[in-house]
Amino acid sequence: MFQVFAGSGARKKYADDEQQRTDVPDQSADGEVRHVHICILGTGFSGLGMAIRLKQRGYKDFVVLEKAEDIGGTWRDNTYPGCACDIPSHLYSFSFALNPNWSHMYSPQREIQAYLCDCAQRFGILPHIWWNNELRDASWSDDEQRWHITTSQREFTTDILILGNGPLSEPALPHISGIENFEGEIFHSAKWRHDLDLTGKRVAVIGTGASAIQFVPQIQPKVAHLALFQRTPPWIVPRLDHPISEEKKRLYRLLPFTQRFVRTRIYLRQELTALGMVYNQKAMEKGMQFAREHLARQVADPELRAKLTPHYAMGCKRILVSDDFYPAVAQPNVEVVTEHIREVRTRSVITEDGQEHEVDVIICGTGFHVTDARLPQCVRGRGGQTLADAWSESIHAYMGTAVPGFPNLFLLIGPNTGLGHNSMVYMIESQLSYLLDCFKTMERKQAQVVEIRSEVEAAYNDEVQQRMQKTVWASGCVSWYLDARGRNTTLWPGFTFEFRRRTRRFDRQNYDLLPQYIPLTT
Ligand SMILES: Cc1cc2nc3c(=O)[nH]c(=O)nc-3n(C[C@H](O)[C@H](O)[C@H](O)COP(=O)(O)OP(=O)(O)OC[C@H]3O[C@@H](n4cnc5c(N)ncnc54)[C@H](O)[C@@H]3O)c2cc1C
Repeated sequence: MFQVFAGSGARKKYADDEQQRTDVPDQSADGEVRHVHICILGTGFSGLGMAIRLKQRGYKDFVVLEKAEDIGGTWRDNTYPGCACDIPSHLYSFSFALNPNWSHMYSPQREIQAYLCDCAQRFGILPHIWWNNELRDASWSDDEQRWHITTSQREFTTDILILGNGPLSEPALPHISGIENFEGEIFHSAKWRHDLDLTGKRVAVIGTGASAIQFVPQIQPKVAHLALFQRTPPWIVPRLDHPISEEKKRLYRLLPFTQRFVRTRIYLRQELTALGMVYNQKAMEKGMQFAREHLARQVADPELRAKLTPHYAMGCKRILVSDDFYPAVAQPNVEVVTEHIREVRTRSVITEDGQEHEVDVIICGTGFHVTDARLPQCVRGRGGQTLADAWSESIHAYMGTAVPGFPNLFLLIGPNTGLGHNSMVYMIESQLSYLLDCFKTMERKQAQVVEIRSEVEAAYNDEVQQRMQKTVWASGCVSWYLDARGRNTTLWPGFTFEFRRRTRRFDRQNYDLLPQYIPLTT
């Protein structure tokens, strides 16, 4: 038996790990697990990283809920052509599981997912995963001091709930009048239709964000015509991707410190960008000049170049890296449309100027529900208040991790932990250390419950929002970093090493700790 609730796909793929089920939560006689100490949500970098770090510390009483049939989160779901990381792979990976075998500086999606699967196998996490278990409800019980969990398959309780459901895991479709009447094919880039051959088709791509600039160069040579609907041009700098030589891979295998050295160098280089974004926007001017030269080198037509030239401060929206996007859009079968879309008809897209663009397929590169995701609606803290209620004005959490009114609930890469310039895995690992120290403190103090003090969380969020005012993200552009009220609730307003420093130790003075619950009947 591999896993009582394993999906058939996962069961087949990880069959060799079926025998590992020794170190997992106890089941009662009927094979049910009724209570676990820790429940983690998701098998992306966050959930998997948490599971690995717990396992390394000797914890065995934890489960990982995964709504899908495989590991990887972002890197399982985004399979569009050209999908790859945009932070170099040496850095965009766990510090405790360096991979000397990356094929490229920016490795493709398939390789990143394989890396995560390998980590899950190597660190013995597979037997802890409950596949096809979508979290439907999590309710805190004050009487029992534990969480009641309902998934698509079962019910159980847990002392501690850790949400690693990912900030970019719910694709957002655009609200355009008439889009539901479109009679061609329409899909989001995170749900790529591999069954659909785009050869010879007239394709509309909506959006020019991080995903679109990766898949447009891949589909452009195939399609008959590509209408690229651009709201705002992104700042794009050269990616300079290249294969990693066999000699280098051998060196990294033999002398891992050499790869660690490269990783540190990349980290410091990336971190420099925060200087311009957060502390001194003048420092971005060099970057803007560099990006303009990149555009000028790759696009000869002055009219097209004008359309592709950003007119906002670099960094206000995510800075993108690409060597092949501009050459692709400069091809004769591509039209960059800067007029706003007015409506979609059965076979065409109409822009504000009244022009009709006939298309067979619409691909939405329109991002994700970041500040308005669904999951918070099904997490209920003290008094039945949902996380969505607590966040009705704006999402917020102390260190992106803890929310008042939600005891023993921890978020991984929650509000204001996102980055415009460096690896999210660095932020995730900072939180993992913080939580491990928190659990150690709970054990040492024999505490059953920890909860962030509301005044501490409020002061923290004031500080974050205060600092945000001076950053490039507040310089006036429209971006997915901002919520409906214009507050930047997604990004960390500083150097990442500051976040690491502040999460190095669990600051128990900022939390209420309640002692172990002992029922009167015992
Ligand atoms: C195309 C793309 C490229 C990116 N490139 C980079 C990059 O180069 N560098 C970088 O730093 N960041 C990048 N990011 C950001 C990326 O999302 C994070 O780096 C990281 O992968 C997030 O990991 P996660 O585990 O928090 O979330 P995810 O990877 O989204 O994983 C969340 C998991 O939770 C599961 N889940 C969600 N809801 C439920 C539920 N209700 N019940 C059960 N399971 C649930 C999901 O199925 C999923 O497996 C990229 C994002 C995208 C979309």
